[in-house]
Amino acid sequence: MIETKYLIDKGDKLVLPECVVPHLYDLHLTPNFNDFTFSGFVDISIRVLQPTKTIVIHSIDLVLQSAGIVSEQSAVSIEYYTPEQVAIINFKDELQPSDSNNKVLSIRFTGILNDKLKGFYRSSYKVDGEQRYIATTQFEATDARRSFPCFDEPALKAIFRINLTVQSNHIALSNMQEKSITEHSENSTKTYIFEDTPVMSTYLVAFCVGEFDYVESKTKQGIRVRVYQVPGKKKDGETGDFALQIAVDSLSYFIEYFDIPYPLTKCDHVGIPDFAFGAMENWGLITYRESTILSSKNTPVRRKKRIAYVIGHEVAHQWFGNLVSPAWWSQLWLNEGFATFMGNKVTDHLFPQWNVWIDYINNEAMELDCLANSHPVEVKVHSSSQIFEIFDGISYQKGSLIIRMLENRFGEQFRLGLSQYLKKHSFGNTTTEDLWQSISQATGTNVNDYMNNFTKKSGFPVLNFKRMESSKAGEKIFEVSQRQFRLSGEEQPDDPIWNCFVQIETNNGSFNFLLDQKVKTFCIPEFQWMKPNFGQSGYFRIEYDSEMIKSLIPSIKSLSLPATDRLGILSDTFGMCRAGIAPISMFMDLVSGFINETESAIWDSIVSKLGQLYDLSLGSSYSEKFKAFLLKLYKPIATKVGFLPPKDSLEESSGQALLRERIHITLGQLGDNHVVIQCRTYFNEFRDNLNKLQSDIKPYVLPTTIRHGNEVDQQCVIEEYRKSNVSADRNLYLRSLSSTTKPDMVKKALDFSLSSDVRSQDTYIGWIAIPTSAQPLVWDYFVSNFDSIKKVFGESRLIIRLISSSLPKRANATQIQFYQKFFSEHIIPVADRSTKQSLEDMENNERFFNSFNNVLGNWLNSNEK
Ligand SMILES: [Zn+2]
Repeated sequence: MIETKYLIDKGDKLVLPECVVPHLYDLHLTPNFNDFTFSGFVDISIRVLQPTKTIVIHSIDLVLQSAGIVSEQSAVSIEYYTPEQVAIINFKDELQPSDSNNKVLSIRFTGILNDKLKGFYRSSYKVDGEQRYIATTQFEATDARRSFPCFDEPALKAIFRINLTVQSNHIALSNMQEKSITEHSENSTKTYIFEDTPVMSTYLVAFCVGEFDYVESKTKQGIRVRVYQVPGKKKDGETGDFALQIAVDSLSYFIEYFDIPYPLTKCDHVGIPDFAFGAMENWGLITYRESTILSSKNTPVRRKKRIAYVIGHEVAHQWFGNLVSPAWWSQLWLNEGFATFMGNKVTDHLFPQWNVWIDYINNEAMELDCLANSHPVEVKVHSSSQIFEIFDGISYQKGSLIIRMLENRFGEQFRLGLSQYLKKHSFGNTTTEDLWQSISQATGTNVNDYMNNFTKKSGFPVLNFKRMESSKAGEKIFEVSQRQFRLSGEEQPDDPIWNCFVQIETNNGSFNFLLDQKVKTFCIPEFQWMKPNFGQSGYFRIEYDSEMIKSLIPSIKSLSLPATDRLGILSDTFGMCRAGIAPISMFMDLVSGFINETESAIWDSIVSKLGQLYDLSLGSSYSEKFKAFLLKLYKPIATKVGFLPPKDSLEESSGQALLRERIHITLGQLGDNHVVIQCRTYFNEFRDNLNKLQSDIKPYVLPTTIRHGNEVDQQCVIEEYRKSNVSADRNLYLRSLSSTTKPDMVKKALDFSLSSDVRSQDTYIGWIAIPTSAQPLVWDYFVSNFDSIKKVFGESRLIIRLISSSLPKRANATQIQFYQKFFSEHIIPVADRSTKQSLEDMENNERFFNSFNNVLGNWLNSNEK
């Protein structure tokens, strides 16, 4: 139990007392751009459920000037209790229960248009050097209460009638279309009244106020779609045109896929200059950081993929999350897992040439989920900081991987189940069980039993295939067993048994079976090669042995095995090495089989895994040998794809362009002479005008030059950052100017990332770009500047990446204790779990390093010959 004063501990959640429930909020807000405040009043139609003299309502950083029940009584007093983010409104006469929403709670209040990127906040931008502002909102998960007093829980759905009074030169946007706009010439303002929303959760309410440009189109079903941006961006060539097409097409796609009309009459998408997340799915008014919505003719494919995916993700939320919402934040994965899956699905539908499912398998979920400090996708969360903690790889990536597993097994029945679920619970709130019930009905399978351990337990199994003596000629018998995959420690007696639907491909046919026990035997016809978990849709790892791998190498080399499976073998084998189950030589041998590989996502994976090994072995006796091996591996690819793209870039596939970028970035960081010199030549040619540098080579020319350059070069990139208005370019400049290991330059990069030139939403981009070998400098910087960093980032998930990039990749027990002590004395609640995960990762990496250290040295020696 948790000690609470006003909130009620329901075991798995902390909620407001259930004395009254809201029905309709008639909300009026007037932002003031002169002093960054706002004033408001709200009339909330409520139903009284239990006799009470007190109404407890969520409110934080607001001043409630008056409150009362309309036509009945005024409050005798208003108190605040900040630890629980509530205001307590006390009445003289007891409010009596009723069957109808017959009382109106009226509250006047004021608040601050803050610069913390949450609640109702201000965001700034420049036009021709002049600073301008917009006011915007970010309410998920628990910040609607910073904008107006409300019953701020996802299950307390209500209708919202939003009224905004704004300066006459501003426009106002909200979830719905405006019903009327009334000018007030006496004080140069106007009041927007928006249509009533459907019944919805508070965290999805949104409004934006300021000057905006937009582009507009309609879906084939007649829904109006607009993409808004602040003025001045178009001049730099950044528009919402690409986004608009995706927004329209994905909305149409989901209307058909879910077989449910979009419930509103419009869907707006707005690029916000200061934004803490990637995007936010507010119903009918989706907000984005500018780099995930705006693009220009120079926007590289990697960025376009991201834009398409994020829009698809947010549009999917309009059903998954908005139409049907989680009963509590413990069910967040229902929102995020589905939106992640659907975002990929619609991107694949719109751009099949991008092979997004291969990128998708390349995610971090299993790395997080094998930590002792992981959490189940369904997880108890009480406080706001606990809620914000779970917007992580488990809720998003693992959530989506287990959904893909279901879709893969049940196909069209799965889609029917989803559609039935959304229809049955429209405008309501659900738990995971409600979803399983609908899918069970559609598939005729008990999905609850099938999925339980995937959602209620953390971790995942690894499957071992043991060959048995064949009973008769022409067939092979296997004993297949499962155990929890752990990087450390042995099996535990209470480890779960998962239900694994295993698809197997051999040169002699396709097979599948359900492993629903610890051990089961199965028999298939004789084969030359076998690929278990074919299609990589099962959320488990396969323990490949050297014989299995050897038999698969020819189909890896000939690329006849599908790319998802090639990638699967690679990541499962690396996983086994990390867990000490397989020697690192097995992985290194396997990588050598990928010489003909053409898929950029697979090279992404190889480069990142070898990069991890390289970073962990920095300072070892074979470091230089390892570098030579990497250069030898990557150079032929660089030669094949070329330093420059072909003259007519339409000639090449998006994959080829991505591969060129990835390989040259890597070669540049490793210091390949040829690449370093070429990058330097281009840099020098454009050093005073870096924005004129060809956009497809910029991602490697800049970081390579800085990595091997000096402070004067770094200053050029800083100047270009200051001049640029294009968000994606600024991100690249920030990454590049941080690609240095020289102490003075590292300090300058970190100082710059925290300066007023860089928006706080972007600071982390500089930090994570600093090479591993310079990490001790980052830690020292983090410690010396802890107080000021905490002040800006301490309540935001943005701090998580600052912490993880300050920490070393590996550390021994004594060093870990040192860091533990630091974080126990410097507490940051929103980063509590992620910091523990980072420390655990360091410990695991130390063990991993010790396990491969000698083996890798020997392997490199023998490979040299
Ligand atoms: Zn989402």
